[in-house]
Amino acid sequence: MDEATVTETERPTAAPAPTTGAPPSQAEAPVDSIFSLHDVQVRYGDFVAVKDVSMEVPRNKITALIGPSGCGKSTLLRCLNRMNDLVPSAKVDGEVLYHDTDIYGTNVDPVEVRRRIGMVFQAPNPFPKSIYDNVAFGPRINGYEGSLDDVVEESLRGAAIWDEVKDKLGSSALSLSGGQQQRLCIARAIAVTPDVILMDEPCSALDPIATLRIEDLMRELTESYTIVIVTHNMQQAARVSDMTAFFTLEVDEDTDEKAGVLVEFDETERIFTNSADPRTEAYISGRFG
Ligand code: ADP
Repeated sequence: MDEATVTETERPTAAPAPTTGAPPSQAEAPVDSIFSLHDVQVRYGDFVAVKDVSMEVPRNKITALIGPSGCGKSTLLRCLNRMNDLVPSAKVDGEVLYHDTDIYGTNVDPVEVRRRIGMVFQAPNPFPKSIYDNVAFGPRINGYEGSLDDVVEESLRGAAIWDEVKDKLGSSALSLSGGQQQRLCIARAIAVTPDVILMDEPCSALDPIATLRIEDLMRELTESYTIVIVTHNMQQAARVSDMTAFFTLEVDEDTDEKAGVLVEFDETERIFTNSADPRTEAYISGRFG
C-alpha cells in the first residue's frame, strides 16, 4: 500500500446496494465498506485509550460512535484521518484500511489522507476571514485551477447555507450564528472534495433548531459522502445514523486499568431496539453512563 494507492483512489459514485424489507445485520450481509478497522488500539504514552476495535464502516451511510465519556470515541474518530498524528504521545496499532489502503502505511501522505477524509469539530471554528475566503481556503491551498466562485457556491449550496449568505459573501464568517458557522465549516470541509466527513459532536454547541438543520443536512450529504459522527446525544444517534457503534470502558481485572472497547456495532435500529449485549441496553436506557 503506498501513497499512489491513496492518491489514485477514485471518489465513490455508486450508491449502496438496495435492500428489500428489513436491512440485514452486518453479520449477514457483505458490506460496501469505506473503512475496515482491524484490531485498532490507540495509546497516549502507556495509557491505552481504546483497544480491540474491528469494524467495517459502510460507504454513503452515517455511522454513529456512542458510549460514556472517556471511552475513546473521539480518539478513534481522529484515527480515521490521522489527526492523532498531531498528538506526540499518541500511537496507533492495528490496521485502518481506507479503500483497502492502510492509511498508516509508510508511504502514505497524511495531508492527502486529511483532504480525502475531512473533519468538522465540536465548536464551529471558522477562520476570522470572510465567508468566501473560508470556503475558498482549502481549494486555494491545494492549487485549485478552476473557478473558485463556482466551488464556493457549490460548497455553500451543498452545506444548505447558500441562500442565507449569498448576498454577503464578503462579510466576516464570525458574524454568522453558531448554526450557520457550523454549516459554513461543513461547506469548508466539502470544498476540497473529500469522500468522508468525520464529525466530532458537531451539534453540542448548537440550539435544538440549529441541531435539526445540521441533522437534515447530514442526511442530504450521504448522497455524496460517508459520515462518521461522535455524539453524546442518544436521540441524535437514533434519529440520524444508519449504523451505531457502542463503546464502553472495560476494567482489566489484573491491572485495574480502564480502556475503551467496542461492545457492539450494528444497524442503529437494532442497537436501539434489540441490542445483543446487555451493556448496550443498559447505556441506552440510561442505567449507566
Ligand atoms: P470520548 O470521546 O469517548 O469522551 P476521548 O477519546 O476523548 O473519549 O478520550 C479517551 C481517553 O483518552 C480519556 O481518558 C482521555 O482523557 C484520554 N485522552 C484523550 N486525548 C488525549 C491526549 N491528547 N493526551 C492524553 N490523553 C488523552
